[in-house]
Amino acid sequence: QQHHERRETAKSREAFARAKQLIPGGVNSPVRAFKSVGLTPVYVARGEGAHIDDIDGNRYLDYVLSWGPLIAGHAHPEVVAAVQRTAADGTSFGAPTELETQMAELVVERMPSVEIVRMVNSGTEATMSALRLARGYTSRTKIVKFEGSYHGHADSLLIKAGSGVATLGLPDSPGVPAQVAEHTITVPYNDLEAVKAVFEQLGEQIACVIVEPVAGNMGVVPPLPGFLQGLRDVTAQYGSLLVFDEVMTGFRVGYASAQGLYGITPDLTCMGKVIGGGLPVGAYGGRREIMEQMAPSGPIYQAGTLSGNPIAMAAGYTTLKLMTPEAYERLERLAAALQLGLENNARKHGVPCTFNRVGSMLCPFFTEQHVINYASAKTADLERFKAYFATMLELGVNIAPSQFEGMFVSTAHTEADIAHTIAVHDEALRRL
Ligand code: PMP
Repeated sequence: QQHHERRETAKSREAFARAKQLIPGGVNSPVRAFKSVGLTPVYVARGEGAHIDDIDGNRYLDYVLSWGPLIAGHAHPEVVAAVQRTAADGTSFGAPTELETQMAELVVERMPSVEIVRMVNSGTEATMSALRLARGYTSRTKIVKFEGSYHGHADSLLIKAGSGVATLGLPDSPGVPAQVAEHTITVPYNDLEAVKAVFEQLGEQIACVIVEPVAGNMGVVPPLPGFLQGLRDVTAQYGSLLVFDEVMTGFRVGYASAQGLYGITPDLTCMGKVIGGGLPVGAYGGRREIMEQMAPSGPIYQAGTLSGNPIAMAAGYTTLKLMTPEAYERLERLAAALQLGLENNARKHGVPCTFNRVGSMLCPFFTEQHVINYASAKTADLERFKAYFATMLELGVNIAPSQFEGMFVSTAHTEADIAHTIAVHDEALRRL
């Protein structure tokens, strides 16, 4: 097997040097800077289907997909056409459009627990608003979250967080007031006994438990059998709300999202990523009686100049429409084949590796341990990941620059792309 090496990265290096003079760390979101892997980020010129091209003329098979949103691949012709058509009629009005209702109909139809939904502009806004609602609705202050989970960068949620803050080793950010942080209780993911113990002590003060139903910000960590049901039971028992953060898993792990896959009905659900089809969209929704507490029907406030933006609605709506049950079956087949190939490579090269996957979210961890929480995710060999990442990139496969992030497969990926990725991975493990 011949491997195609990257030719040149001079333009990306120059672009990054220039950006660093003008933008903190050169980037508008930390993980993009490739700091933890010690490399220069790839400056993207364009994307098409499962591929991106950088400004130096290198092409990559992409498993980052804008960190999850592009489930139908880059620049899907129908999504691009919908965006163009909508933009031609005006980009924003700050007045209602019918597109917003169409979008809400689609979300309510597909997200089993959601009866009514509010659009926002990011996952962070969705979780921040859901927390305010949970606190306002229950008249309680404390919240429970899981170590190594990331729910965006709102003050209450940047406590023992995953994703970029885990990658950079900054799980508790300066600037979050201690008086806010003290209301966030963290417990290990998949540890129902720890959750119960917290509730026995403080149950009457807990507004909600917020959980990624499949954790995707400490690598990929599926819920153990009974974990989500246990959260449902204990929150119901104490009159707390169960908030599913499906920003990553929503419309990603299956047609009915994680809540459909596991058959659990949360009180509130946060959405983002896929729902925007690559444009800035988040949403939160759930039980009507709770959601109606939001202004203007209720007293709890949340608003947005660009919320429900027509172009964003058009991109999200078109993307969701492309995602039929058959599309999810195809994703499952592709991702299962990818996992099998990577597992065989790891075995062949004798590299200790654990693979976690739910649908088209997949994570190879460089550890022998069963990864069920942040502590076990952290047993992964990060130096080995760094070397592996560099070779994958060198050979034209773009994965997230962190062991604490998964790979995403899109419907634009083909069987040939998967086979190619397995061959590149084989070579990357050989070079370790
Ligand atoms: N929740 C989860 C589960 C996420 O994965 C993310 C982003 N990775 C967020 C919230 C925050 O979303 P955003 O970056 O759109 O603010």
